[in-house]
Amino acid sequence: MDTVISNIKPRVYNNNYTSLKELFVDYRATKRCLPSFNVNDNYDLKAVVEAAEEMDTNVMVMTYPPVAELNTPEVFRALVDGFKKISKNNIYLHLDHSTSVEQCKHAIDAGYDSVMIDGSQVSLKENIKMTKAVVDYAKPRGVVVEAEIGKIMGRGVEVKSDNDFLADLEEVVRLYEETNVDIMAVGIGTAHGFTPTEPKIHFDRLQEIADAIPIPLVLHGGTGIPDADIQKSIKIGMSKINIGTIVHTTYMKHAFEEIQKAGDSAYPPFIMKEVLPKIKEVVKDRLRAVNF
Ligand SMILES: [Zn+2]
Repeated sequence: MDTVISNIKPRVYNNNYTSLKELFVDYRATKRCLPSFNVNDNYDLKAVVEAAEEMDTNVMVMTYPPVAELNTPEVFRALVDGFKKISKNNIYLHLDHSTSVEQCKHAIDAGYDSVMIDGSQVSLKENIKMTKAVVDYAKPRGVVVEAEIGKIMGRGVEVKSDNDFLADLEEVVRLYEETNVDIMAVGIGTAHGFTPTEPKIHFDRLQEIADAIPIPLVLHGGTGIPDADIQKSIKIGMSKINIGTIVHTTYMKHAFEEIQKAGDSAYPPFIMKEVLPKIKEVVKDRLRAVNF
């Protein structure tokens, strides 16, 4: 296993970017967006990588905490490294929505390119404290840190009014200035998962945030946002978009169907051979929306 010291060495990337941080700075300046997909294992990882290769784009793959816990960050790092050997484009590995400083440090030690410390559910003071702890650990190791302010609806997050989920401008500036975090997820009305109605994105607040802080912003809830709204957000300053639900629901639905069809003779590689193209299809559809 890599020691912490070996992880401090800067990694070399293609496409003239010497680091993910540099890519994000460039993407923010040129109004581009890094498509980022939640993956769960080697199979949906393969589908995302193949889709990105076919569309000739850099891509980020993200492990949600239960995925990182089950697979271990070390194994996921090795999986992505394996795919990097056969890809022309960059594949970045990110820890998504961690609420634990220790888990972020573990992922950083395992060689993740980027980690998210999500302090959106605690007080601003506590959010700043945990974000700063991760930034202080990540910076010397060349790892990007994502913070969150405001709330992304869905998945049990209850909101009472607009002011309850919308990122507060003053708090956004404080979180940025007091932590020096690299990228920031901001609550602007999007929701995780499928939504019964189209989410109403508060573009005015997004514009105010983009004017107030210079760092790349992150759009969560990518599954349920109409293409036009994704593209409008990118033009304002969203430099990373998170897409998760459409990947795992497509995966589970088709795996279930194929297993039912095969019955007792269901065999993983044969099942997955049928499922992979279905995942690839939805990933390519979202890549087209982001790389417009
Ligand atoms: Zn999210």
